[in-house]
Amino acid sequence: MASIGAVTKQIAALEISSKKHQQSSRTGHTKQPSQTNVAKLLTKYAAPHPPTAKTTQPSALRNQTNANAPARISRAVAPSEPQPPLDIGKYDGGLELDNEKRGEKVFGEAAEALALDSSVLGTRPTREWSLPSFEIGRPLGKGKFGRVYMVRTKCEPQYILALKCLYKSEIIQSRVEKQIRREIEIQQNLRHPNVLRLYGYFHDEKRIFLMLEFAGKGELYKQLSKHGSFSEKRSSRYIDQMADALTYLHSKHVIHRDIKPENLLLGINGELKIGDFGWSVHAPGNRRMTLCGTLDYLPPEMVEGKEHNEKVDYWALGVLTYEFLVGNPPFEDRNSVNATYRRIAKVDLRIPSLVSPDARDLITQLLKYNPEERIPLTDVSRHPWILKHRPKGSSRGGSEV
Ligand code: ATP
Ligand code: MG
Repeated sequence: MASIGAVTKQIAALEISSKKHQQSSRTGHTKQPSQTNVAKLLTKYAAPHPPTAKTTQPSALRNQTNANAPARISRAVAPSEPQPPLDIGKYDGGLELDNEKRGEKVFGEAAEALALDSSVLGTRPTREWSLPSFEIGRPLGKGKFGRVYMVRTKCEPQYILALKCLYKSEIIQSRVEKQIRREIEIQQNLRHPNVLRLYGYFHDEKRIFLMLEFAGKGELYKQLSKHGSFSEKRSSRYIDQMADALTYLHSKHVIHRDIKPENLLLGINGELKIGDFGWSVHAPGNRRMTLCGTLDYLPPEMVEGKEHNEKVDYWALGVLTYEFLVGNPPFEDRNSVNATYRRIAKVDLRIPSLVSPDARDLITQLLKYNPEERIPLTDVSRHPWILKHRPKGSSRGGSEV
């Protein structure tokens, strides 16, 4: 365990003086009660949890086993055993290259909506972040609005993160500034081991940068494409974690609405992380009617343009279970979009015989036409198919696969 002195030093390194903070007037944002606050976050996670017996990863990454805190160099974990810092890979210069030829400065109301900076929010001062605060490593991927890099904070304790860049003018062109803002506002308030953390964000004239939890094993979709389908055990472990994460999200009145393999990432120990909140709604007591989400994962009530609630995520969990086990979503019809719609509305479900009776039971109970008849998430967590594959001694879904 890190000493109290070390912990205090770590926190101090990331704090800025409250005076300086009060003088800051870069945006006109009003304060909100429970925004991400890096100092608070570090207070919570500064003393690392002891590694679990199962952990075989280098100590530099052990922290990710127990809490979705950013990975840290090992000095913070075991001061007496110096370990080499985690390799973040080679930077390809992509951010500068992009910035020269991509995007434009933005003005007016839209520019104000995208002047997003976590350091000016919250009740306590946090560090002001900017691009020079990071050592940039290998590219992790390309998103719709910019690139994603593996980075390390230059200041102690040198957190490893994924830095996602978004071009403001492209966001405005696609008319999704409100959606992006909402995604950021929702994600920054969430804390669950199976929900990708957003630690902070900042912006410059042309770009927004999101400081995201680094998902060490990348995209789940790639794994599914590589293997075709997953074993019953692996699928059950993922669904257990999904049910846990969705229970948490729904308790916060967040409906995800876009659950699909492309939006799921994997942590360093193979644990699942819900990563994309683009279509989420924060809707206490609300019945939403907007049509959104991916066709194959849409429930009948959305296909039919009816009101919907958090039970849309129950349906998507059923589709996901099927797709993990079978390799394709249950109502897919490659001939036409309309045919898929019709199959969804009829709940035209055919489960191949290779699927075990327990898994079949869960899928059938989730894919019910009537949202009220879908099996509750608490019952998913204690369904025989989930219990059968849950590691001994683990009572909930948040752990590694
Ligand atoms: P798309 O529409 O292509 O999904 P997007 O704008 O949603 O784009 P992301 O999916 O967030 O962008 O990021 C692009 C890629 O970068 C991902 O597919 C993934 O491979 C990688 N990536 C994003 N976030 C992380 C992360 N936190 N950890 C590791 N890799 C990440
Ligand atoms: Mg994405």
